[in-house]
Parts: sequence; structure tokens; C-alpha cells
Amino acid sequence: MTDTRREKRSHKAQKVIERMSKKLNRQMVGSLAACVHCGMCTEACHYVLANPDDPTYAPAYKADRIRKIFKRHFDWTGRVLPWWVGAKTIKTDEDLEELKDIVFGKCTNCRRCSINCPMGVDYATFNRMARGLLVSVGVMPEGVAVVSKDQWEIGNQMGVLKEEYIDTLEWMSEELSDEMNDPKAVIPIDKMDADIVYSINPREVKYDPRTIADAAKIFYLAGENWTMPSEGWDMTNFGLFSGDDDLGGAVALRLYEKVTELHGKKLVISECGHGYRSTRCEGPNWAGHTVPFEMESSVLTMLRYIKEGKIKVDKSKNTTPVTFHDSCNNARSCGLFEEPRELLELVCTDFREMYPNRSENYCCTGGGGAMSMSEYTPQRLKSASVKADQLKATGAKVVVTSCHNCVDGLTDLIRHYKLGMEVTQLVNLVANAVIVPEPTAEKETVEVEKAE
Ligand code: SF4
Ligand code: SF4
Repeated sequence: MTDTRREKRSHKAQKVIERMSKKLNRQMVGSLAACVHCGMCTEACHYVLANPDDPTYAPAYKADRIRKIFKRHFDWTGRVLPWWVGAKTIKTDEDLEELKDIVFGKCTNCRRCSINCPMGVDYATFNRMARGLLVSVGVMPEGVAVVSKDQWEIGNQMGVLKEEYIDTLEWMSEELSDEMNDPKAVIPIDKMDADIVYSINPREVKYDPRTIADAAKIFYLAGENWTMPSEGWDMTNFGLFSGDDDLGGAVALRLYEKVTELHGKKLVISECGHGYRSTRCEGPNWAGHTVPFEMESSVLTMLRYIKEGKIKVDKSKNTTPVTFHDSCNNARSCGLFEEPRELLELVCTDFREMYPNRSENYCCTGGGGAMSMSEYTPQRLKSASVKADQLKATGAKVVVTSCHNCVDGLTDLIRHYKLGMEVTQLVNLVANAVIVPEPTAEKETVEVEKAE
């Protein structure tokens, strides 16, 4: 129940408290109430490991900044005996700014502390809720405001215009036809009744179109009936990072509606951790929408093609030592642990595990939208020493990850710590290893006849 006594506080602080009452659910209240301050999560956090003398980075300390508000206004112990349970309200805009620097600047919502808590406290989940409360009153890092605006207004989080997107697809389509020496090797746009509708991260259009070309090559060689949508194609979702469920729902719905309009049978999501989690796991709830088609990560699609013999690969084409970075959203939050490894073993000759890995892997330190929050870059890069040590210990020359956000986070820390490693994705390795069949005798004969 909300405390209706209006203490002397700023308009924004009052709004934050009122909105908190609407966002609390059973899972959130459980996490807010259950902490016994045992400290077992402390060493799980990469910020703590990189700042051992600063207790303000401890997950329980950070969580208590949110918990004290919950206790003061929504928990009977805090309402009756606030001094006993550490309940405390927020009063000023400065209080909100202070909270902003914690929930955006000192946590990437990676959930490593969550899985190390014996009481089941999921700090990352209510840290995200706190972000959303602040965003609702306009208190957020500038980068979060800019990216959210682009996704609301332009339809994707990098402000890619439709012409730019279509031009890139057409350019990649031409490259594919040339490479395959087949005019039928194209990227189909808005094809109706396709078995697969392929959605991507705008970063692929803006900075890394080779991932689109590589995916197209794989679909073509697999003989897939596939397409890419002309609109509503962004599978990323800044709502996951900003905590804005309305944005999350609107973005997810655009994609669901486009696939439905095209009568697509399955939505395949390119390699992106937060995009996969948002689109496949969280989106239907945010949007209040029952999705009438199947959704799958492209990692599973590529693995299936190899297992079913739709494409053949030669792993000797990828001999450089590689390691694998588990994206927090793909792995810890969505359980994609073994499939990327199975794929790596099929397309590379020298795959080396990074330790710890799978659900215990450390964040790339660019998660939770951290790459867009330049004011926190120094503390992000300091916390990245943990990841840098992990990478160095593998002796690998290339780090593979199934997440565009992790590509950016890893690239930045590799440059900062001068590790001299490259970052790539599974789609690039699969496309490099794939065997392009020789033209059939029949096709060759036809071509010779034409020439005569
Ligand atoms: S491990 Fe769980 S119960 Fe212990 S301090 Fe951390 S959040 Fe609280
Ligand atoms: S979610 Fe990750 S970054 Fe945030 S406190 Fe927990 S371990 Fe640290």
C-alpha cells in the first residue's frame, strides 16, 4: 500500500514513489524483501572485483539504495519502524541524481550477483525497475535519452533511415550474387509466406554489414525460403536497458506485427543478446501480445542447417585460436550455453574455453546500455580489467560472441588494455567455413550452350 502522506519532496521524487507502487509485482517484492545481507553476492560483481576498496559497488549496498525506498513506503515494517529496517524516502532531485549514478553507472544488469544469491534476490531486475522509474521523470544519462528517442521516433535505436537500410540490403544482395555467381542469390525483401523472417540489429547496417552478407550467404546455401522486412526490422530493444516497459512493448510489437503481416512462419533473430532476450522472452509481456509464430536465435538456425546437412562446413578454414564470450542476456538470462559451443566445435579447429564461463561468465562490461552512457566510461573501463584478465588467460587471438553489444564492449576493452585480440561472431565463422558447392554439370552445360 502506498504511503499517502505527502512529505515535503520534489514533484519528481513524488512521481517516482507513486510509480513504484504500480511496478511492484510478486517477484520484485520477493527480491526487495528477501536479502539477509550475507554478502555472498559481493565477489560476483565485476565492479567490486575491480574496486576492492570501495564498498559502494557491492550489489547489496546498491540494492539497499532502492530497497530503503520500498521499505519506507510499501513494507509495513518500514512504515512502522523505519529506523529499525533502514527505511528511507527520497525527497529531492539531488536524491534522484544520486540514484541515477548507481542504477545506470554502477551496474550493467548482468545478473551475475542474482545467480549467486542463496535467497533468490534478483537485484538486476529491480535495478531495471528503478531505471524505469527515473526515466519516467526524465532523470537518465543523456545517451539513454537519445537512443530511446531514436527508437521511439525512427523505429530503431541507431536512427537508421529506411533508405539507408534498404540500400544496405541491396548492396549486400549484389555482393552475394557476385560471390555466388548466381543472379538468384539475393536478399528477398518483404516476401510473403516465407518460412523465415530475419531480423537484425541496426548496428549491422551502420557498422558491420558483413554480418548481413554472411547470414544471407548461409540462408542461400541452405536453400531457405526467407526474407527480411522493409520496416519493423529492428530486433533490439532499448526498453530492456532503460527500464521503460512502454518502449519495450512498442518496439517488440512493431516486429511481431510485421512478421504477422508478411505471414512469416518463424522469426529468426540475429546474434544479439539483449535483442534475443527482449524479442523472444520479455517482449510478449511488455506488449501484452500473444505471438502467433515461433522465434529462434540464428545460432540455433545455423546449427540446425549443419546437423541436417543443409550446409556443409570445413573447419580447417578457421584455424586461428578462438575463445567464446557468453553474453549475459543470451546465457544467464536465456540459457543459450551449449549451442554456440557446439557450433564453434563444428567450424573452428582451436576453440578454447574462457574461465569462468556459461552462467558464471563475467559481463563484457558494456551491458545494460553502458556503451551509450559516456559519463561512466572511466569506471566501466576500470571494471573491465576483470574481463581483460579472463581474455588474456585463454591465449586466444580471437574472441567470439553472439551479441553485437558485447562486440562493442569487448572491442573497447581490448583496445584499452592493449590485448591485440579480434572480436567476431559465429555468423562470420560459419560463413567462412561453409563449403560452396561446385556448379552442377547440368548448369555448366547450359552455360556453355548459351555461350555458343
Ligand atoms: S547474496 Fe543475496 S541475501 Fe546475500 S547479500 Fe547478496 S542479495 Fe543479499
Ligand atoms: S547485476 Fe552485475 S553489475 Fe549489477 S550488481 Fe549484479 S553483478 Fe554487479
